[in-house]
Amino acid sequence: MMETILREGLTALSLPTERIPALLRYWELLAEKNQVMNLTAITDPGEAARLHFLDSAALLALADFRGTTVVDVGTGAGFPGLPLKILEPSIRLTLLDAQRKRVDFLREAGADLKLEGVEYVHGRAEEFAAKHRESYDIAVSRAVAALPVLAELCLPLVKVGGRFLAMKSVDSDEELNAAGRAVQMLGGRLETPVDYGIYGTNIRHRLVIMTKISETPEKYPRTFAKIKKNPL
Ligand code: SAH
Repeated sequence: MMETILREGLTALSLPTERIPALLRYWELLAEKNQVMNLTAITDPGEAARLHFLDSAALLALADFRGTTVVDVGTGAGFPGLPLKILEPSIRLTLLDAQRKRVDFLREAGADLKLEGVEYVHGRAEEFAAKHRESYDIAVSRAVAALPVLAELCLPLVKVGGRFLAMKSVDSDEELNAAGRAVQMLGGRLETPVDYGIYGTNIRHRLVIMTKISETPEKYPRTFAKIKKNPL
């Protein structure tokens, strides 16, 4: 059932299907660990196939990830980063999350799946930036914070010429408008967002795209307390 949905959905995205067994194994590990810790609210395999795996995979149809360095900020149980890496092995991936237990799970899953070129980092994006500024071709993030906050967490990590791809719902117009000034102050340029449907559902999501056009000023990112209290 999950396999059929993945096969149909990946085919609809013109993506390869050979890695479906690895995606299924990842779900098996995740569902098992989810019994003893909170990794995902989704427990139905069909829903997981669509809302976790195909939603993540959609990014591969919307941007070229081949041979890139990617950081997934607030990856949680590994979305979207881990499906991206499984489906596009040439990515060099950093999975970053503030919750140690989630990062521990991801390390175990990555070892089980024999993934190479993945770093598992327990930390906060705004602190990680101190040593990893302007370092990644692409930053991705889903369900972590509102865009003005998220831009300050993620844009400093992206190289000039690289991009930050934020996964949002289609009702993000207000956030998007609010983010314009922040993006500019952080050295980014907001591109036209791309709305996409998730295969086998009526759900539409939105990829918010920011191109890094100049270095982020040294004073950003601020501490999380400041970012939250006074978003750009
Ligand atoms: N991206 C995943 C998880 C979303 S839940 C998904 O879409 O399924 C949000 C995650 O972001 C949590 O695991 C939380 O620990 C992490 N997070 C929140 N703020 C963060 C920060 N400043 N730096 C790193 N991780 C953060």
